[in-house]
Amino acid sequence: MTRFIFITGGVVSSLGKGLASAALGACLQARGFKVRLRKLDPYLNVDPGTMSPYQHGEVYVTDDGAETDLDLGHYERFTGVSSRRGDNVTTGRIYSTVIGKERRGDYLGATVQVIPHVTDAIKEFVLSDITDEDFCLCEIGGTVGDIESLPFLEAIRQLGNELGRSRAMFVHLTLLPYIPSSGELKTKPTQHSVKELLSVGIQPDLLMCRSDRAIPDGERRKIALFCNVGYDAVIPALDVDTIYQVPVSYHEQGLDEQVCRHFGLQAKEPDLSRWHAIVERIRQPEGEVTIAVVGKYTSLLDSYKSLAEALTHGGIANNVRVRLNWIDSTVFEHENVVQHLEPCHGILVPGGFGERGAGGKIEAARFARERGVPYFGICFGMQMAVIEAARNLAGLSKASSTEFGPCDDPVVGLMTEWLKGDLLERRSAGGELGGTMRLGAYECRLRPGSRVHDIYGTDAISERHRHRYEVNLDYRATLEATGLSFSGMSPDGILPEIVEIPDHPWYIGVQFHPELKSKPFDPHPLFTSFIAAAVRQSRLV
Ligand code: GLN
Repeated sequence: MTRFIFITGGVVSSLGKGLASAALGACLQARGFKVRLRKLDPYLNVDPGTMSPYQHGEVYVTDDGAETDLDLGHYERFTGVSSRRGDNVTTGRIYSTVIGKERRGDYLGATVQVIPHVTDAIKEFVLSDITDEDFCLCEIGGTVGDIESLPFLEAIRQLGNELGRSRAMFVHLTLLPYIPSSGELKTKPTQHSVKELLSVGIQPDLLMCRSDRAIPDGERRKIALFCNVGYDAVIPALDVDTIYQVPVSYHEQGLDEQVCRHFGLQAKEPDLSRWHAIVERIRQPEGEVTIAVVGKYTSLLDSYKSLAEALTHGGIANNVRVRLNWIDSTVFEHENVVQHLEPCHGILVPGGFGERGAGGKIEAARFARERGVPYFGICFGMQMAVIEAARNLAGLSKASSTEFGPCDDPVVGLMTEWLKGDLLERRSAGGELGGTMRLGAYECRLRPGSRVHDIYGTDAISERHRHRYEVNLDYRATLEATGLSFSGMSPDGILPEIVEIPDHPWYIGVQFHPELKSKPFDPHPLFTSFIAAAVRQSRLV
């Protein structure tokens, strides 16, 4: 029997609802339960795939090729459970399903309305594709009081009724702001937020109160009294120094115990030893390396959420702190790369889109190649490395990507067809943009004797993709003659997946996104190896 925990947020956005949900999932898992986590997003886009990283942060890609909210990345990193397409839904998707049914005549002449048709579609989503999970945690995006959230709140209210208290629980995350002039933590915004929830018929069972300092007993009692919950169900959710401390902290404040109590479950104490070990390593590193991340969306670090975490995981594996030096690649248009990149022990060019800033990324790849600094190119970062090699080693000065328009030497070009399992996928230049990239897990074969073969320790890997362009195989011989090796290929040998320079301390470009699969307790081998190379580099400079 699956129990459902609905997590809403109040007072302000960005309270860390995704992290709180992920941490609760981790605590329940540590008690031996099987968990699944889901996100319901109230915006109208069908998925975040077409949104600018500035709007939405990173697009998290699942194995089955869905473009989803970045909170699903937290869920995976904290629980190790691979998310699926059915774990993230938006208003846009719900409405397109409902309107599709209406056009087919499935509603048999009924007037199609938010209640019950839209709310039914939401409920169907929440309950679908659940098998033997003990818990399904559903986070509702946005903040209570938003117009967009209403159908979602109504749907979970109905579910609370239909499933009953023994199968449903409402958790509400709020903020207690500290007012320096009065020296107090204020409970009023929390009271108002709970009132707002009550006005749509939801009485929360548990409150998680974010605060930058300890919550005095009196305030906790006041919240319990005014919000109609038990004192023990007011969980202080205090700021911590690393996100991987969150499961331990929330457990210490009684979060998972209260959840078990709500459902009447006698569960064993959770085994949180792996979280203790990770936090200890993060707090007591033996050294430090600096990695330059040369990207375009560096003013909103949520755009590179999984990447930053994967680099931290690489640090955990090597017992070092990884300091990230975020560099907007457009600065290289008027400033010299040397002053920015020389102090760094590794250079990473992440995924990206469009021509703006591409020149700076190519310069960064060149600096890394020429100076023997570890270089990690991810997706766009691999494509820029290939263009760099073509221009500066193969003498193809006009080499470029057709993503930037027609060019003389398209060393990176539009992917027009590829195999997905046994199916041939086709794309054309003028096609739709939403959901049409090469998305999700694809196999890649590694060349025996290559550095990546050594790093992965296996002949074939599966990694997640999100790209529309590919390195053009017509240039393989020319590029290999310069010392670049195509060490990873799609199983049919048509798509270059990895390039490396064997005669360099560490120079690897990958067409996929390894950062999406890294976990704090299972750091991705490429990140572990890259940070190890940066540690070696730090001893040289
Ligand atoms: N813009 C490039 C492409 O579509 C790279 C995409 C990415 O870095 N995710 O192929």
